[in-house]
Amino acid sequence: MTSNLRSSIPSGPDNSNPSLETEHWDVIIIGGGTAGLSAALILARARRRVLVLDEQRPRNRFAPHMHGVLSRDGYSPLDLVADGYREVRAADGVIENAVVVGTHPIADGFEVVTDTGVRITGRRLVVATGSRDVLPDIPGLAEQWGRGVVACPYCDGYEASGRAVGVLLSSAAGVHKAHMLRSYTDDITVFTALAGVIPASDRVLLEQRGMRLEDRTVAHIVTDGDRLTGLALADGTIAAVDVVFAEPALVPLDEPLRQLGADRTDTPVGAWTAVDAVGRTSVAGVWAAGNAADPTALVPIAMGSGATAGLAINGEFVAEEMAAASLSLTHERGE
Ligand SMILES: Cc1cc2nc3c(=O)[nH]c(=O)nc-3n(C[C@H](O)[C@H](O)[C@H](O)COP(=O)(O)OP(=O)(O)OC[C@H]3O[C@@H](n4cnc5c(N)ncnc54)[C@H](O)[C@@H]3O)c2cc1C
Repeated sequence: MTSNLRSSIPSGPDNSNPSLETEHWDVIIIGGGTAGLSAALILARARRRVLVLDEQRPRNRFAPHMHGVLSRDGYSPLDLVADGYREVRAADGVIENAVVVGTHPIADGFEVVTDTGVRITGRRLVVATGSRDVLPDIPGLAEQWGRGVVACPYCDGYEASGRAVGVLLSSAAGVHKAHMLRSYTDDITVFTALAGVIPASDRVLLEQRGMRLEDRTVAHIVTDGDRLTGLALADGTIAAVDVVFAEPALVPLDEPLRQLGADRTDTPVGAWTAVDAVGRTSVAGVWAAGNAADPTALVPIAMGSGATAGLAINGEFVAEEMAAASLSLTHERGE
């Protein structure tokens, strides 16, 4: 899979910033997608020294358009990130294209290490590294990811209204997605072969709601050269569909949080870093936002969680500044 992200994101003078290693940053943010950039914007505008280290591979980079994002419905996900880069930099935030490979605590905060060996320190850490989708291993599917093959009814269901929809189950629990999609169209085929046995009660309910079940193995994706047109079954039959909703496995990109020993919690899609309502992890001074903290976070939710973390971190700084001023007042008065 490829993406054109690097050509969309404006490079700027920050990319050769000499102070990266000499400065003790107020906040280092690992990951510059929706969540990381939202945290950075709040903190930079609060006049904190913020550094974003970003590998530039947002999860939705394969989709030409995003949906359900207020005032940006149909906008390019890469353009959203590019806008975010510009806005953070305009507020004096610094963004570097870098991959973080190490994180550990130091006396006054944290040190992060990039894959090129650069060592950077900061007082607080926000991990906004997102997650990645592990796609079903079907020839041609990866090439259609984000266009003819999608995953999220809230993102792409509306566009599938009245169309021929295939639901490619990877698990029996995935039948719920088929029921969600029934709101948009009465032409749904549920492909079950990857999911194993679907309980009889689920099969009956799907059929009762007018959905077809197809148990034969899907051999490969069929296209007209560009656009998805169907799924080829192992016996050579072509099932014509306009769009496929698949069920990829979601994997958190949480290595920095694991290195720091942040607590994890069980979610319906596996163990994930545990955070409180403002994104605080179990490690003092370390925050997580977006898909790194919440597998269900769509773009508006990731944006909100990054902003929430930014507000809470700045709140901590203000409280520390007030406490320090109060202490020096006490000393000045000789109390
Ligand atoms: C195909 C597809 C379509 C989607 N469509 C929609 C939609 O229409 N509407 C919607 O609301 N949501 C949509 N989503 C969900 C959307 O992708 C997520 O909500 C969003 O990306 C979460 O933002 P984030 O900032 O948490 O993570 P990301 O956007 O994934 O950003 C994480 C960033 O961190 C970087 N990073 C990771 N590890 C490191 C590291 N070690 N060092 C440095 N940088 C690192 C990554 O390269 C990336 O730039 C879609 C998802 C997919 C897969």
